[in-house]
Amino acid sequence: MDRRASGQAIILVVFLLSTALFPTHADAAAERMTHAEAKARIPERPLPDFWVGDLKGLALHVDGLKRGIASMLCVTPGGRPIHLVSYGQKENVAHLANYNSAIGGREPSAYMDKAARKKPVVFFVGPVHGHEVEALTGLVNLIQIMETGKDLRGKDQTSLRQLGDRCRLMIVPAGNPDGTARFEPRALEGMTGDDLRFWGQGTWKDDTLCGWPQVKRQHPMTGENVGFLGCYFDDAGINPMHDEFFTPMGPEAPAILKIAREEGPDLVVSLHSHESEPALLRPAYVPAEVQQDIRLLAEECYALLDKRNLPHDSPFEVRAEGGRNPDSFNLTSALYHICGAGSFTFECPHGLRDGCQVTLEQILDIQLALYEAMLRHEIDKKR
Ligand SMILES: [Zn+2]
Repeated sequence: MDRRASGQAIILVVFLLSTALFPTHADAAAERMTHAEAKARIPERPLPDFWVGDLKGLALHVDGLKRGIASMLCVTPGGRPIHLVSYGQKENVAHLANYNSAIGGREPSAYMDKAARKKPVVFFVGPVHGHEVEALTGLVNLIQIMETGKDLRGKDQTSLRQLGDRCRLMIVPAGNPDGTARFEPRALEGMTGDDLRFWGQGTWKDDTLCGWPQVKRQHPMTGENVGFLGCYFDDAGINPMHDEFFTPMGPEAPAILKIAREEGPDLVVSLHSHESEPALLRPAYVPAEVQQDIRLLAEECYALLDKRNLPHDSPFEVRAEGGRNPDSFNLTSALYHICGAGSFTFECPHGLRDGCQVTLEQILDIQLALYEAMLRHEIDKKR
């Protein structure tokens, strides 16, 4: 080995050591973005009225409810309310034990006699990742549909409303308002994966973009090395998807779980967004039968998307946990274990220009198709 080669070898060893010691920077060697640069990249465009990309838009709709009932679940570290909007009467049925004790007693109905209810209960958990406002738009449109029979485009949605009327609906339009308040673009459609990384995951102190999976290796996301706090997090740096469910760090996940425990929904979705096609994800750490039921729902939802010329993923495989990197026990898993609901994560495309390219209108159509598939799925089971 000549001197130059040994010098290169030393540099390589130092590099490898530094990436091992400081994993948070390993993925972001080249990409930096300051807050000013990120703001300058936001396209100047009017967003359509049906698009709800911020808390102001949400507040307007929550204040004007006629049929729905709004309540406040909790206040975030940033002092913002988390709203719950419900439709349909709560049916009071026997409730003798918490869920896992009822399961231990081999009688799920001891937790809640769901079969005695006339209507299915469906729980929609809006974005716990604040920038994933596709679901905020979707859920505010669902509220508008339940109020008026039309979505915010003025499009008739009588049949979706009729399905909604046959269920009890629990809607948390924004699951992490602190994160949403930090999301300045109000939509990522037409932007890039780098914009998504900046606004979603944030940056380290030296302006390098955080990246997955490193962004999950520091939690809470607080301290000297944090730059722009991504919209994954509330103002205290908590990502509600990965709160410590047994000894909670933030208020959002416990508030969502409390509603699930009290209401005993039949079906619950945690609504997210990503770069690719719409996808219902395999719920982790739930029984195979629950996975199978969600897989069936995925098939129904994808068929509906197909019929409407909208993109979609293919159904996941039911399987047990395991392997070198098993899935995490996240909010979706916790939701199942607190109330026995069919529980899953939905990922909607943001419409990135370097991802699954869909328009804002198509994003709303994808959201509404999912909701329709969910309501039909549960109504069919009640028959
Ligand atoms: Zn997410």
